[in-house]
Amino acid sequence: MNKFFTVSHQSSKSKARLGEIRTDHGIIKTPVFAPCGTKGTIKSLTPQLVKDIGSQVAFVNTYHLVTHPGADIIKKAGGIHKYSGFDIPLMSDSGGFQVFSLARNSMTRQSNFYHTHLKSEKITSASSQKNQQRKADIRGEEQPLLVKISEDGVKFRSTFDGQLIEFTPEKSMKFQRQIGADINMAFDECTYYPATHEYSERAMERTHKWLLRCIKYKDSELKFLSHTSQKRKNFSSSSFGNQYIYGVIQGATFEDLRKKSAEFVVSQNTPGVAIGGVSVGESKKEMREQVKWVADYLPKDRPVHLLGVGQIDDIIDLVKYGIDTFDCVEPTRLARMGRLYQLSRILSENSFPPVLATSGRLEKSLRVVGNPSFSATREFDIDIYKMVYKNNFEKVDKDCDCYVCQNFTKSYLHHLFKQREILGYTLATFHNLWVMEKLFDKIRELISEDKI
Ligand SMILES: [Zn+2]
Repeated sequence: MNKFFTVSHQSSKSKARLGEIRTDHGIIKTPVFAPCGTKGTIKSLTPQLVKDIGSQVAFVNTYHLVTHPGADIIKKAGGIHKYSGFDIPLMSDSGGFQVFSLARNSMTRQSNFYHTHLKSEKITSASSQKNQQRKADIRGEEQPLLVKISEDGVKFRSTFDGQLIEFTPEKSMKFQRQIGADINMAFDECTYYPATHEYSERAMERTHKWLLRCIKYKDSELKFLSHTSQKRKNFSSSSFGNQYIYGVIQGATFEDLRKKSAEFVVSQNTPGVAIGGVSVGESKKEMREQVKWVADYLPKDRPVHLLGVGQIDDIIDLVKYGIDTFDCVEPTRLARMGRLYQLSRILSENSFPPVLATSGRLEKSLRVVGNPSFSATREFDIDIYKMVYKNNFEKVDKDCDCYVCQNFTKSYLHHLFKQREILGYTLATFHNLWVMEKLFDKIRELISEDKI
């Protein structure tokens, strides 16, 4: 029997657990980090390099792939694995994050829509808009232009070529089926921050209705497909073929809504569950609370994914709440900015686990500097652009034994970045993702010993 998820060890100290997710493209040992291959590529790395790093799973974005090259093209190519050369398990999102969250940024310029639909929502302070913009920049580069949002779904114009694209629960499922990632997300409305309770509740209800439509669509597809009865038996009724759907918990920053949403989504028995709408501009404390509130509701026998979170200092706490899989652009985005993780700081005996002081001192001070999104990782990396590295012939990270650290110096990386040489991005991305793997190796070891 092909069981999608099994827990091999439950920590006696917390909800942290060791597990295995089985997909047609391999087994994923959890907890695990999924690097973002937004457009079907982890920027600057070949799939072979991703394998060399040891990444067990990667994440692709439906919105980006639908705008280009188009889900139908990927289907024609035989699915995203064949098209992109990845043979590790892949997850895809529903498109909801980009469609709703990024579209809203462009919406702030469209006063007519704002006055008719969003007037009760207080999102207009300059600083919150700026923060949202920064966060949006982290999750994707292109902002769609929203045309219409309704109970049925959302229509928007692609910024790539201006074509009108519609996302409904059924279309999101269809696009994800065409793309062909192993794990799919149900279509959800990602509430922006800050949103009113009233709006967040409406969005949550909509997300729940959409989840039911996604499940129905998948079930009808299942009947439609020419699977053998034996093969069909191997999969949950809510998945079709080798693709598994996760329901997404929403509810913004409100405890009652988060709990209600968790109860509803978990009760739908999808093969996995995801938590969405976090890390969209709220403080780190609020982000963690949103996960903590639902921790008791999360399924014990199914995997739990946290969408869009992956800052070094958050991960261990979130694993303790029962999160099995993470995706985030942070390690790869930081790498392309010349920000290189230091394993020596992350796993050092003195400072492990790498958890931010509860005072939030660092977060606060860096918010003043102006980039809340990258705030807490500052301590865990170095900025290779700094002139001090021009004369530094030490390895990139003294405790790291990755290919980059074995072969290159800080001075050379400094030179590559200063000269905008493409190899710099490749080497930095390789190293940062390698460090993420070492962190998760350590986390799995600590869980097996009941230390976290
Ligand atoms: Zn390294």
